[in-house]
Parts: sequence; structure tokens; C-alpha cells
Amino acid sequence: LSLGQSVRLVMEGALTARDRVGVQDFVLLENYNSEAAFIENLRRRFRENLIYTYIGSVLVSMNPYKELEIYSKQQMDRYRGVSFYEISPHIYALSDNTYRAMRTERKDQCILISGESGAGKTEASKKILLYYAVTCPTNDRMAALGDRLLQSNPVLEAFGNAKTLRNDNSSRFGKYMDVQFDFRGAPVGGHILNYLLEKSRVVHQNHGERNFHIFYQLLDGGEDDQLNTLNLERNPQNYRYLVKGNCPRVSSISDKNNWKVVMKALPVIGFTEEEVQKLLNIIASVLHLGNTQFGEGEEGETYITTEISNLARLLGVDGSALREALTHKKLTAKGEEMITPLNFEQAEAARDALAKAVYGRTFTWLVEKINQSLALKVHSKGSSVIGLLDIYGFEVLQHNSFEQFCINYCNEKLQQLFIELTLRSEQEEYETEGIAWETVQYFDNKIICDLIEEKHKGIISILDEECLRPGETCDVSFLEKLEDTVGGHPHFVTHKLANGKTRRVMSREEFRLLHYAGEVNYNVNGFLDKNNDLLNRNLKEVMCQSDNQILSHCFRREEVIDQKRPEMAATQFKNSLMKLTEILRSKEPSYVRCIKPNDAKQPGRFDEVLVRHQVKYLGLMENLRVRRAGFAYRRRFEAFLQRYKPLCPETWPNWHGRLADGVLTLVKHLGYKDEEYKLGRSKIFIRFPKTLFNTEDVLEAK
Ligand code: ADP
Ligand code: MG
Repeated sequence: LSLGQSVRLVMEGALTARDRVGVQDFVLLENYNSEAAFIENLRRRFRENLIYTYIGSVLVSMNPYKELEIYSKQQMDRYRGVSFYEISPHIYALSDNTYRAMRTERKDQCILISGESGAGKTEASKKILLYYAVTCPTNDRMAALGDRLLQSNPVLEAFGNAKTLRNDNSSRFGKYMDVQFDFRGAPVGGHILNYLLEKSRVVHQNHGERNFHIFYQLLDGGEDDQLNTLNLERNPQNYRYLVKGNCPRVSSISDKNNWKVVMKALPVIGFTEEEVQKLLNIIASVLHLGNTQFGEGEEGETYITTEISNLARLLGVDGSALREALTHKKLTAKGEEMITPLNFEQAEAARDALAKAVYGRTFTWLVEKINQSLALKVHSKGSSVIGLLDIYGFEVLQHNSFEQFCINYCNEKLQQLFIELTLRSEQEEYETEGIAWETVQYFDNKIICDLIEEKHKGIISILDEECLRPGETCDVSFLEKLEDTVGGHPHFVTHKLANGKTRRVMSREEFRLLHYAGEVNYNVNGFLDKNNDLLNRNLKEVMCQSDNQILSHCFRREEVIDQKRPEMAATQFKNSLMKLTEILRSKEPSYVRCIKPNDAKQPGRFDEVLVRHQVKYLGLMENLRVRRAGFAYRRRFEAFLQRYKPLCPETWPNWHGRLADGVLTLVKHLGYKDEEYKLGRSKIFIRFPKTLFNTEDVLEAK
């Protein structure tokens, strides 16, 4: 065969292969404005078990809902040191590229993983960690760190994950993790930031959902004498906090095995035997708290009808003080302390608030403890960091409440950052390469972020104000306040304001936000309580005297003495998001966008409506447009020549002139017109490199 013939064969082969497997980078779609073409490409690849596809440097990942043979050590080796385009898309390619960018440019990196619940974010982050743990250089002293990094996962998942309708192992908290590498590229430290644990799950679960895994693990996996000491019975149905969802077992989960994994992991990440025991006491105490019940006396007073000594023992507090604190409220009026009895509902609410506080604070303590064991080296010379963000995706449920409001606000912020960073990095690269920048039109969601977070005028400020305002406030008065203050905002709608602005009927308890990703109705019921997140002062007093060191660490005396009101939940969340944005802004970002193919958690099923919805919410079409508006493809001269020189007789087998001239000869030979490419200082930019990419899958298949 002559060279020309073989090139033609390669191209033709590529075209048939392409019909079957689609394109490995969406920028290659002829019709890049068509959502249908986008989805068809996803479908084809999904059918062939090709779950990864690029949009330029963004990795789109489809959840296969089955184990694929693509994560082995051999696969890791294939991806080491290889460029994106030379091999089929993979999470390892992204991990490796990020790592190399950190090493060569000496700049901190971050990987932002997004997608809705069950789309595969947490699995993706675990694969990235595993890739680093396996492939990075290490020495004996540090080998333990990789181990601790990996072992912290099952522990965090036991306490922070739960079975939901969408995902059997759903993370109910947001997580940002820094992995620190020393000057040789060996992992030396780590640090985790956690965001907004869904505490309400401790006391209530929707039908078909469970409480956090750890409770079931303990009951199923704990030794007999362990359970005896904790005064627990094996059957989860005996615990009121575990029966709400009517779903004690999940077929895809072995609570017993996972318990063993967690018990093995705790010592690895530095827990002493004593600490483990204290932790078990706390888990058990939450279950006993749930079974604590109240009765109503003749005069309307409330008393505890169940046995309380076990609960008090496990919490490490005085029984009668606890009994008093669960049924009374302490107020300070005009410098005088007053004790007033709680009614039945108030007592139940106080009990649940305590359970949530105990669990939530213990979770935070757990993260701190893990952080001590990972010990980020603050002064390690020449070290750099790769951050991994695995945080809840945009969420639209049947009934959306305070939690969804926070989650979706978080997604607005991340989208804003995404816009800022992708456009900025495009622009910067064009500038360094000396190429004229062409502006791209896109929707800037700053207006929605402002609506939510602006000082004094934003929804969060109004919510805080309403929580603090003396007198009769309630969720509905909050809604009215919103209408008065932000009623005119183009992205805000209520029943009263709707007149024609909206198609769907709204209830009188809802407000609607027109998010960048779509419309969501939020029901204001419970907003004030959840934002207040109050725990009666006398309960705090009892808890800070606990002789369980974990609890006395979690409930500080200062908090009781200090009469200043702590920040409210939404404001706390807002501030932590601001910090997160700062962290991410200082790093070079990469993106993984996860998509789930169906709601049934089944392999092989591609639900087009569901996928289209996510493509829209993740802003993938817009992402593609930005990428295509400029130059979809860019490559350093050397690498470009090396890769494609067989396609042109003048550059084959070697080009001896200036690199730029060789590249020019090659692109002209491939038939690109002048306006279709540009040569920068060190890189070639091609608007739409279809000829090149068509050969890639085939070159690789050979
Ligand atoms: P998310 O964190 O986005 O809510 P997960 O990462 O927990 O979702 O994934 C949900 C489930 O989907 C996992 O428990 C696993 O069964 C399956 N899954 C996700 N990604 C993969 C993958 N790459 N390979 C095989 N199964 C996967
Ligand atoms: Mg998750």
C-alpha cells in the first residue's frame, strides 16, 4: 500500500467506526448546536460501554451502573504521560493530565465533579484518588498516607451517606478534599472540608429511604457483647429513627461487611480504641434518643414515659438534668432565669433537635479527626495541591425545601465560577499565544447569585432578618417579605406575582426561582426553623458537661456563656461557599460532568428524557458552544508533528525545518483553509479538527 492509500483506508475505517461509537470529543460533532446530535452521540457511546466523552478538556461521564473492566492497574499505566487526544477518554486521562499540569507548571489544580444524585460523582472522585495512590511515587514513610486517604472514604460514607430513592449510596454532605504532593510528586498530606450535612435525615426519612448507613451497620455488624453494652437490639425496626422510611435493608448493600470495613479503617486513620468506643456510644445514644417518648399530664405538663438512664449513660450526662432539659426550656428575661415547661410538641422537637445536633457535630468532629491524621504539611517546600470537589448537584424534587434551596444556590455559585474560569483560561491562552480573542456570548448567572446572596437585599438576608425579628414571624411572613423586597426581580416568582409570568400553577406557600438550570418551586414551610437550627440552651448546658470527650469537644461551654446568636444555617453555608470559591479560584480547574442514564439504577438503559434534562442542567450545550466559538483544538507544535507526520509525505518520516513550518505544511496538506486554523507562538489552534480526530479512534484500535 502507498502512504496515500493507507491514509485513505484509515480515514474510511474511522468513519465507519465513528458511526458506531460516536465521536470522543463533542467538539467534533458536525452539528454542534443540536442537542439531538449531542444526545445521540452520548447514546452511541453508552451502548458501546464508552462512558467517557470530552468537551475539549471537560470530561463527560455516564454512569454505567455495572462494573466495567477499565479501571485496572494496566489501564492506569496506559494513561500515564499520554495526551488527551491520543487515547480514548477516561477519568484516568483527566487525573493524569491534572497531575502533570501540577508538576510541570507548579500550579495548584482542582477537579470539580458535578452532576445530580446518583450520576457517579463520588465514584469518580474515588477513582481519581485511587489513580494517585497507585501511580504516584512514594516512600515507606509516606506509603501510609495513601492508605489513610483511601481509608477515610468508607468512614465518611458510613456517617455521611444514606440510601435515597435516587442512589443507594447517596452522599448527604458536600466534600472538598485537598491532596498535597511534595516536590517529587509524592502525596504527603490531605485535608477535607465538609459542607451542610443533611441532618434532618437523622430524625426523618422519606418512604423508601434510610437513615445514615452507620446505624444499620452497627446493628447488623456489631458483636453481641458490643450491642449488649450499648443496650441495642439487632432489629432496626425497633428504633423509631430507623423505621420512617420503612426500608431496613438494601439489596445492593451489605451492612455487615461495611461495618467490618469501617472498624478496620478507624484505627488506620488514627482512632484509639477508647475513641471508637465513645463514637459507638454516640451512635447508640441517637437511637435511644429516638425511642424516648413523652406523655402529657393533667395540667398540660410533659413528662418522659420511657426509661432514660441508658440514654444518659451513653451520652455521659446526668440523667435527671437530661430529663429536665428535654421537658423544660430556660429563658433569660431581664437578667433573670426562668424555667418554663415544654408542651408535648415542643418536647418532641427538642428531642429531635438534640439528636440532630449530636449527630451533626459528631460528623464534623470526625472530619477534623481525619484531617489530623492526613495532616496537611503547611510548610512543605515546593509542594502543590490537587483539590477534589464532590458536591451535591442541582436538585429538583417533587417537594423542594430549605435543603434544595441551599444545594441549588451552591450550584449557581459553581456555575458562575465555571463561566469565569473557562472563559478566563481561554482568553489567557489566546493572549500568551498571541492570538486575537473573540468574545463569546453566554448567560451570566451573576444576577441569580445576587438575588440569593446580596447583603440586605438578597433572599438569605431576608430570611435571617425574619428569623431574628421579634414578634410573630412565620414561614408565610417570610414569603410576604420576599414579595415586598425582591418581588420585581426577573428571576423570582410567587403565586401572587405570577400573573402570566409562569405556566405552572403555584401554591400560596411557594416561591419560584428561575435558576440558570431551570425553574424550581420552593415551599417555604420549615424555612425559618431550619435556618434557625436552634438547640435549647439548657440542652446545650447538659451536653457540655458530658464525660464523653467527643461530645464535650462538640458542645463547648463558651457557646452557653456567649449569649450572642451564632450565624444562621443559610448564612453559614453562604460564607463557607465564599471561602470555597476563593480556594477554587486560586487553582487551575478541570471538570468532570456526571450524567445518570436512568432512574432505575439499571445498566444498559438510556432514558432520553432524563439525559436531555441533565445535559441542559449541566449547561453542556453552552459549554460546547464556548469551546467551539474559539478553537476547539490546540496542541504544541512538537506534539502535533510527532502525532500526525505520517499523514503527509513532506513531514514523513521526519521534518527537518522549523517546527512552525512543518506544522503549516502538515495542516495545509490535510486540507485546512487559512481561516480554519491559526499558529500561535508554540501551539497550533484549529477551529474544528475533524480530519484529525477521525483518525484517532482507529489509530488507537490498531
Ligand atoms: P453520586 O455521588 O453522583 O450521587 P455515586 O458516585 O454514588 O453517585 O454513584 C451511584 C452508584 O452508581 C454507585 O454506587 C455505583 O453503583 C454506580 N456507579 C457510578 N459510577 C460508576 C462507574 N464508573 N462504574 C460502575 N458503577 C458506577
Ligand atoms: Mg455522592
